[in-house]
Amino acid sequence: MIQAKNSTDAIKEKVFKIVEDSWSEEIDFLKNLITKKSTLLHEEDMQLTMARKMKQLGLVVDTFDIDISKISTMKGYSPCDWSYRNRPIVVGTLYGKDKINGKSLVLNGHADVVSENSTRHWTYDPWEGTIVGNKMYGRGSSDMKCGLAAIIYAISAITSAGINLKGDVIVQSVIEEEASGNGTLACLEKGYVGDAVLVAECTDNKILTTSVGSLWLRVVVDGLSGHVTSGTTTTNAIEKAYEVIKAFRVLEDKWNSTKHPAYESFDKPIRFNVGKISGGDWPSSVPSECEFHIRLAIYPDIDPLHAQKEVESFLRDYFKDDDWFSINPPKFYWYANRNAGFDVPKENPFFDVIKQNHRGIHKEEPEYSTVTAGNDMRFYALYTDIPVTMYGGYGYNMHAANEYVDLPSIKDMTKLIAGTIIDWCKLSDI
Ligand SMILES: [Zn+2]
Repeated sequence: MIQAKNSTDAIKEKVFKIVEDSWSEEIDFLKNLITKKSTLLHEEDMQLTMARKMKQLGLVVDTFDIDISKISTMKGYSPCDWSYRNRPIVVGTLYGKDKINGKSLVLNGHADVVSENSTRHWTYDPWEGTIVGNKMYGRGSSDMKCGLAAIIYAISAITSAGINLKGDVIVQSVIEEEASGNGTLACLEKGYVGDAVLVAECTDNKILTTSVGSLWLRVVVDGLSGHVTSGTTTTNAIEKAYEVIKAFRVLEDKWNSTKHPAYESFDKPIRFNVGKISGGDWPSSVPSECEFHIRLAIYPDIDPLHAQKEVESFLRDYFKDDDWFSINPPKFYWYANRNAGFDVPKENPFFDVIKQNHRGIHKEEPEYSTVTAGNDMRFYALYTDIPVTMYGGYGYNMHAANEYVDLPSIKDMTKLIAGTIIDWCKLSDI
């Protein structure tokens, strides 16, 4: 005798069918998001598009700017000196019908993207969302507008199926994940939390538990300017900056020489990156100043403020006998990303729900993931008791030319989010 499917499975099937049927619409939505050039300070158009879509789905939408005076005293705050005007956070809530018996779920994603860097190295326009076979190319295609599209179309499938949930679903479309995390921190400050959190970034369908922290630092190196013919009476600031960069490489090796247990299998988990440099303005003038911006990484159990002090004292010590730097030490300006890493336990009831849905869709056991980059999951992992993970499809060339996302994996992700909502928030017959 064939056993009748239980009603939750039947409803999930119905919802998954809607995801299939609306797939071309979801692709169009993702393509439209990629055309919004939502780099740092320019997120408004993208965010208003998200707000409009959430309203169309019947979510109650709160659009607000970050209030620095409120978040600057919170743990996890990263200090930034740029303006937060007209750079909204968008939170949409699908209210449940029986909160006492249902649990709420936060679905978090970031609307900001990094710049295209050099268009010359792209095969396709970074702001077009070009589709080639199963790939969609574009800045933010994988990091992480695909996750936001998956969240939206998972909720759309649920509301289109006409089902009610017991617990609330809270969608957070935030800014500044790439620079500070202050967008997600502002959601916490506003009280937008839940009984579990899923950050929908690409993880190759793995359950993320562990991440390093990251720090941003601007280093200013002085020189002594003069005509190119002045010879020994001048000091070239750009060439002195090379020496400081070399010193950072020594510190990077030192930090990698001890391994955090979660990173035993990694060759070099702590990565420093000089991401921006400027100095001088004339080939025949010896430059008097050179500045560079560097990203540092720290292991999960390291306090970011402690790491900052260690960097400064290491460099002071490194150059203590240097004729130039002992008198003209490099100047350090810590700004934006000041993030701690995290390592969350692998067992909890929320992960069980994700695993169950992963098994249902992929017919295999999910793996856990450990990454060497920071992300917004840390706020929930470090400063709340709420179970949280990051889970998503397959993204490639993030922060690089020809970034693309594997589209079929985003369809699966949409189903996984829908299934997770149904199992976690629970169906309501009210
Ligand atoms: Zn991202």
